[in-house]
Amino acid sequence: MTSLHDASGIVSLAGSVLSGAKSAVDLASLSKDRELKIKLSELLDDILQLKIKASELDAENRELRSQLEKRDSVKPLGEFGYFFKDGETEPLCPKCLQSSPSKEVYLTPLQTFSGGLIRRCLVCKETFWERPARQPRAQMRNEWS
Ligand SMILES: [Zn+2]
Repeated sequence: MTSLHDASGIVSLAGSVLSGAKSAVDLASLSKDRELKIKLSELLDDILQLKIKASELDAENRELRSQLEKRDSVKPLGEFGYFFKDGETEPLCPKCLQSSPSKEVYLTPLQTFSGGLIRRCLVCKETFWERPARQPRAQMRNEWS
């Protein structure tokens, strides 16, 4: 007996039912009962549709399961709002990850920029400041005057 605890079990069962229906159609071809042949042929079509649908649902189920597992292993951490994979220290872009859970993009290593410290996302082009830029002296003087 096929296990029906997951979608692949249902796909497998649909395959057995389909081959049983094909045998019935073969046997019916020897019969002179025209209505029986038509009914069996319709049944075969329906089972084929069912098997196709079950395969699609199985594929969708696997994809969703994989996304769910990824999501479980990625968590927000620290003051900058970055996301990290379990056991990793390289941050993932929070903007990309929030646009799509499967969009895991690593940020660039920390670099100095205008006296501040930044990381960039090369996909969405977002810049994350871990330390603000130092203001130029001329600009600071303007603020005091
Ligand atoms: Zn990004």
